[in-house]
Amino acid sequence: MRSGGDGIMTVYDQHMHTLFSPDSSEEFENYLKQTPGLMVTTEHLDFNDCFRDGKDTVLDYENYSATIDQLNEKHGNRIRKGIEIGYTKESFDQIQDYLKGKEFDVQLLSVHQTSEYDFLQPVMKEKDVEDVMNEYFPLLLEAVTNFPTANVLAHFDYGIRLFAVSVEQLQGHESILKQVLQKVIDKQLALELNTRSMYQYGNVALYEQMIEWYVALGGKLVSLGSDAHSTDYYAYHFEDAFALLEKNGISSVTIFEKQQPTQLPLSEMKKNVK
Ligand SMILES: [Zn+2]
Ligand SMILES: [Zn+2]
Repeated sequence: MRSGGDGIMTVYDQHMHTLFSPDSSEEFENYLKQTPGLMVTTEHLDFNDCFRDGKDTVLDYENYSATIDQLNEKHGNRIRKGIEIGYTKESFDQIQDYLKGKEFDVQLLSVHQTSEYDFLQPVMKEKDVEDVMNEYFPLLLEAVTNFPTANVLAHFDYGIRLFAVSVEQLQGHESILKQVLQKVIDKQLALELNTRSMYQYGNVALYEQMIEWYVALGGKLVSLGSDAHSTDYYAYHFEDAFALLEKNGISSVTIFEKQQPTQLPLSEMKKNVK
């Protein structure tokens, strides 16, 4: 696939963070060393960030863009710009204001928190998992319904990463999850396979169930992302994710440039996976 950069399309990890996110200190250059081809980073935007005592986590777009422009001059246009938008109802207008006039290749849509807590904060562990699912999945549906410009629905299981949820328990929420998937399809988003969720947080069986429902509903667009905050997790367990996708009849992933989708065949990436 020839699509910018030096024309080499290799493994493309569509969910990664650098030091432009407060919870990462990784440098672009180190990611560039992982691949001879294109890459994208997807930095955090979380207003009223519960992990930072309610401070806003706002990507410094000017600096981010200038840094990428500089590196792109040096390295043959290999870096694309992305953002991971942490949706809350309360921050909807702030998010829209922030995005105005800014250009990203890809927008990930995430639900990380309510106005009171992030779903990965330790306080969550004291809650009943059914209560958490009854809270989280409607937020996901709200996000994907209301948000106008996203390209990818990220880590559908973020809210339950701290729990050992069985497939049977997930199936208890089939109706709302299928509504989420239907919205993803209707709005032509790609559904993310978050490989750290799958293989680090142990939720691979939940992803298998979601993909099965998604395909049955007619879903075709899938995004693959490690959610790396350092190069240690670059393309984390991608080979396992390729196998899962192929088992479900999916032979390519959807990647975005200036928010326009193209298909990247798994066969292309398989040649190059570490
Ligand atoms: Zn996230
Ligand atoms: Zn992330």
